[in-house]
Amino acid sequence: MTNIIFFGPPGAGKGTQAKIISDNLKITHLSTGDILRKKILEKDNLAIKLKKIMSDGKLVSDEILNSIVSSRLENEASSGFILDGYPRTLQQAYFLNKFLEKSLYKINFIFNIEINFDILKKRILKRSIEEKREDDNLTVLETRFNEYSNSTAKVSQLYKDSNSKIFHEIDGSLQISEITNKIIQIIKKP
Ligand code: AMP
Repeated sequence: MTNIIFFGPPGAGKGTQAKIISDNLKITHLSTGDILRKKILEKDNLAIKLKKIMSDGKLVSDEILNSIVSSRLENEASSGFILDGYPRTLQQAYFLNKFLEKSLYKINFIFNIEINFDILKKRILKRSIEEKREDDNLTVLETRFNEYSNSTAKVSQLYKDSNSKIFHEIDGSLQISEITNKIIQIIKKP
């Protein structure tokens, strides 16, 4: 059973890699962004609130995320999982640690995909045309990037300090296939 966490700023390619690697290893891909985007389609009160928060590029509450991720992990994680977009705050990281301790799951690999803001801007603008995501425009990207720097970067630093042996920095400016190869090499290393 292989359990992985992906970190990286918006547009770094963590979703793309998480999908390729989860298909390759036949493990569950839990993208909190995708799960929330699906919830928005339900058009109830929660959906209206989520839509506003996400299209502004802000973070959805820890309570909602912790409850989504724990219930999905309880039901779908038995063959292994990739967390893509979670944990994004220290509170989420503490919650996850407690959850993992209780359920006896262990994280085997953490990948931090790094990329500078200029490359990111170009990618996000391209994705805004291809995927029509409401949160892919420059103003919202700045908010999302700030949320990442102020909150999520602290979470990845915490994991880097406390789990340095399983923590791997990956250069996000490389081609998709090059990044995949680097990740696979690390996972398959005897
Ligand atoms: P993503 O597709 O991972 O870029 O996520 C899109 C949006 O969903 C983010 O900008 C947040 O508004 C929300 N979101 C996804 N994951 C989380 C999380 N772990 N905590 C808070 N908000 C999240």
